[in-house]
Amino acid sequence: PDHAALVVFAGGPLALRWHELGEADLRAQVTMRLVEALGPEAADSLDFSRRDWTHDGWSGGAYSDLIIDVTARDAERTILAGAPPLHFASSELSPSFPGYVEGAIVAGRIAARRIIADVQSAIATRASGS
Ligand SMILES: Cc1cc2nc3c(=O)[nH]c(=O)nc-3n(C[C@H](O)[C@H](O)[C@H](O)COP(=O)(O)OP(=O)(O)OC[C@H]3O[C@@H](n4cnc5c(N)ncnc54)[C@H](O)[C@@H]3O)c2cc1C
Repeated sequence: PDHAALVVFAGGPLALRWHELGEADLRAQVTMRLVEALGPEAADSLDFSRRDWTHDGWSGGAYSDLIIDVTARDAERTILAGAPPLHFASSELSPSFPGYVEGAIVAGRIAARRIIADVQSAIATRASGS
């Protein structure tokens, strides 16, 4: 595109309510909030495009995941440690770009390396024992 685009996300109950709206009403709702946040110029948009994920088979209903139990201080470390040979990989566990596809790829590579190391160590142990 030859001009800037502003992307907004709506999730949870709001997304379900907005799912019912037609394009003009949805644009009005989004514009109203942008004007509240940024001022009247935010109403001066060139175009509007929507992507509704509420019935997308691959989206579970939220952009990303958060551990919200404040007592679960070790949750991330525990999940990252896994229970070898079982390892977990998810965007949320990534040391970089958590919550994005890039993060999912980084976390997947880290988990894959751990699994390969586990398999190689099991093979080496078996070879030295025979
Ligand atoms: C609406 C929306 C828009 C997004 N836009 C962007 C974007 O523009 N750019 C970007 O970088 N990121 C975006 N993201 C975030 C990105 O999609 C995620 O960060 C990424 O897909 C996470 O990858 P993952 O492999 O960690 O998890 P997921 O892609 O969620 O993969 C988990 C998989 O596990 C499966 N699963 C769950 N439970 C079980 C079970 N019990 N048994 C077997 N399988 C199971 C699920 O079906 C799913 O296929 C968006 C997310 C959403 C929801």
